[in-house]
Amino acid sequence: MILLAKTMQTESISCKKFSVTLLCFISQGWQDASMRAMVLKKLRTLLEMEEVAVPEPGEGQVRIKVSVCGICRTDLHVVDGELKGPKLPLIPGHQIIGTVDKLGKGVSKLKVGNRVGVPWLGKSCGTCKFCKEGRENLCDQALYTGYQINGGFAEYCVAYEDFSFPVSEEYSDLQAAPLMCAGLIGFRSYCMTGNAKKLGFYGFGASAHILIQVAKHEKKEVYAFTRPGDEKGQAFAKKLGADWIGDSNTLPPEKLDAAIIFAPAGHLVPAALKAVDKGGIVVCAGIYMTDIPSFPYQDLWEERVIRSVANLTRNDGETFLKLAPKIPVKTEVTRYPLEKANEALNDLREGRFEGAAVIEI
Ligand SMILES: [Zn+2]
Ligand SMILES: [Zn+2]
Repeated sequence: MILLAKTMQTESISCKKFSVTLLCFISQGWQDASMRAMVLKKLRTLLEMEEVAVPEPGEGQVRIKVSVCGICRTDLHVVDGELKGPKLPLIPGHQIIGTVDKLGKGVSKLKVGNRVGVPWLGKSCGTCKFCKEGRENLCDQALYTGYQINGGFAEYCVAYEDFSFPVSEEYSDLQAAPLMCAGLIGFRSYCMTGNAKKLGFYGFGASAHILIQVAKHEKKEVYAFTRPGDEKGQAFAKKLGADWIGDSNTLPPEKLDAAIIFAPAGHLVPAALKAVDKGGIVVCAGIYMTDIPSFPYQDLWEERVIRSVANLTRNDGETFLKLAPKIPVKTEVTRYPLEKANEALNDLREGRFEGAAVIEI
């Protein structure tokens, strides 16, 4: 299409007004018809920059001109083939901030020009037993953004109106993006720790850097565990107010009331169980984790609990997105242009940045 546009441009010089008009028409049509997107065609391969059709919003959907899209460890699990059944080819990305640019049939709340955030949960059925019980995060028919629905590593995406969140004016697009998953699924995990006063975080990435701000706001003690030798990560945790910092293979000086494991490493589960007190809760926050090694029952005894957290409900999103600007939660962001999405994913894999990574479209 670029070639065609260039050809048309050359022709327009010789054919004067008529061709210029035609060129404008064609280039306008071209802009409407195709867009740049980073596409996963095959699992365990790099995303490829492609010109693809701009999506049209279906019933109940809006089209969004994407401004930024956060990178999440779940994107890595999708690309690496660790999650079953992504649509292929797929445009990943599920921490989308953008502006509504077209309304599908039946859209009643959103308007063209509204700024919205699109999270991981793209749709739930509303009729299964989980949906009826307010646990749509476990919906049998749920569709997830950047997994079964094309996501935000593109100039445009579509999303269901009912599963898009308004974004507080206090946040720029860049600052808001990490709230959409690292923030709100992290917040769901945080809520699972109940009234824990001494709270451990295993893995100090995008989620932990947001949740420590919530925890400190609620006067909790935060114990940050990083990969052994990760001095940069430990300094980052210290800067954000961690009360104790150490390697994930060491025990904290005091027993914890709860721990959240953000890192996808199963060996951290028995490690965290050893770190929590009687009745303590170990929350596994990620969608994927390597196998958990066996451990003595003694380590679970005395009512210690291991639990996972799956996805999010819209209620989690609404609660967290109202709370975040009041604290106020600030996000630390490393920016990448769309064409460098592979580099961003790789840097996440290697732990090369602090806080969150965001793709700018
Ligand atoms: Zn359902
Ligand atoms: Zn995510």
